Amino acid sequence: MKCVDCGSAALVKGTLMENSGGGTTIFKPEAVSIWKSMFGFGTRSVHAYGCLHCKHLQLAVDFSEEDLQHYQQLESGHPGVLE
Ligand SMILES: [Zn+2]
Repeated sequence: MKCVDCGSAALVKGTLMENSGGGTTIFKPEAVSIWKSMFGFGTRSVHAYGCLHCKHLQLAVDFSEEDLQHYQQLESGHPGVLE
């Protein structure tokens, strides 16, 4: 992975956390209800990459194999998404 801003490969991998250290920040897809997410269903962990050169912070979502199949229709330009 490279920095999207300056192209450097000097990225420090980490995660986003609450300042108190109480818990990590997670990614909740819009399609997942808040109730489901409260029980840990449908949410995915987030990885953070900090660039040593320009200090740009980029985030990545830890999608599972099922997620890829489920959301594949978005990538193929499913007509229902934009209409
Ligand atoms: Zn950078």
